[in-house]
Amino acid sequence: MNVFNALNEAAVGHLLFPATSSLMNRRHILQNFRRFRRTEWYPPERLIEIQESSLRKLVHYAYHSIPFYRERFDAIGLRPDDIRHLADVTAIPPLTRQEVIDHHHRMVDSRCLPYARMADSSSRGTGAPIAFARFRRERVVRNTSSGSTGAPTIFYEDGARTGLNWAHELRFRNWFGIGPGAREARMARVSTDYMPNGRDLLFRKFFWNQLALPGVNLGEKDYEICHRSLADFRPRVLWGFTSALAGFAGFVRDRGIDVSPYRPELVITWAAPMYEHEEALLREVFQCHVTNIYGAREVGHIACRCPEGTFHINQESLLVEREDHRAPASNGSGEILVTTLDLTIMPFIRYRMGDIGTISSRPCACGRTLQNLEDLLGRTGEIFTTRDGRMISPNFWCRTFMSPALSEKIIRFQVVYRANDDILIKLVRGNGFEKSTEDGLYRFLRDNFSEDIRITFQYVDEIKPQISGKYEMVVNETARETGV
Ligand SMILES: [Zn+2]
Repeated sequence: MNVFNALNEAAVGHLLFPATSSLMNRRHILQNFRRFRRTEWYPPERLIEIQESSLRKLVHYAYHSIPFYRERFDAIGLRPDDIRHLADVTAIPPLTRQEVIDHHHRMVDSRCLPYARMADSSSRGTGAPIAFARFRRERVVRNTSSGSTGAPTIFYEDGARTGLNWAHELRFRNWFGIGPGAREARMARVSTDYMPNGRDLLFRKFFWNQLALPGVNLGEKDYEICHRSLADFRPRVLWGFTSALAGFAGFVRDRGIDVSPYRPELVITWAAPMYEHEEALLREVFQCHVTNIYGAREVGHIACRCPEGTFHINQESLLVEREDHRAPASNGSGEILVTTLDLTIMPFIRYRMGDIGTISSRPCACGRTLQNLEDLLGRTGEIFTTRDGRMISPNFWCRTFMSPALSEKIIRFQVVYRANDDILIKLVRGNGFEKSTEDGLYRFLRDNFSEDIRITFQYVDEIKPQISGKYEMVVNETARETGV
């Protein structure tokens, strides 16, 4: 890096980015970043003390300021003082996405409700930051999260959650030797989301060293734009939706494009699990570290994968639990519940993420003491549980159909879980797919599923993507019917 770039990074990272963010009420980004760089090495007991202290404050705040939680507590006779330790939190019922959809106004701090209503009727795009929000009363931003299916979840924030997210991202990039102010390209612009206009794009470029690129519904023309913009901008970090980055990497590989003039140092995928074949493709194309953030818009970044491959939880700001089932799956996984511990205007307490995984305190080779998220198998609806309690994740199908022996012979696949343990596998065949290929596949699947499960192959000419441009690898018809 030359002297100009180093000075530019320092000016953006330590002055322009935090100062302009602070004006949008996204405050204390650098302070939190520095704090996180200390706390990530704390002894586990001390991290738990931090969480317990925050949890106690949160529960009091929620009870006294948020109608939804007060009613929820009163209904079961729970007092804020009953929640003293992390284990006590299980007394509070988990929060579902549907409840957030139904009660979003009652989940906001009642003092901020008038401003949330103003945000509802504002012509500002969803999630758009408010200039000089710090000095305004009506600083509430309305945002939505689409989830994988169904109606969008509406939620509100005053900038605090975004500020915290930025601080987590700074810590995370720091794990890979990348400091504040490093140039970053983000493939994340969405039509249903905050769509920056030309002035905002320039603002981001010069004040934040950030290049915004398209992130959904991408076609060849968009990839061409990304390629040219990246060659011009030369980011150190390439950040984006998993589907967008994998799609772009596929474009680069198929066209034989040379990315060496703008090879990033780090690729970060977000908003969907990264499957093994996607990660392999990104590594092959960009020849750099490839990592993943697990999270959701409404609760922020939950966990990030360190250079040693461990998903570390942002434990100082979140309480992440695995829901205890009476009959847990054989590998101990359960649904992930998240509590936002910081006092923000719309806290989420024991929010159902809809993902299956497990939490551990296993030491990581990187030395950080934050808890880990493990066995993240996928969405609850995408997992097939065999009669002997084994969970079959979407990754199993990726490994099967994307294996070197099959990847040429199968262009696309979709697995449909139907009622009565019936599995339909739709395949778009490629060159070299023969009867023996089907026989081999069938034998392999028979070894993994018990005899009473019916497996049927269906050959189709194409499998259409969803509106977002993502291909659904697993469709669970049984989960849809029961509304899981
Ligand atoms: Zn680690």
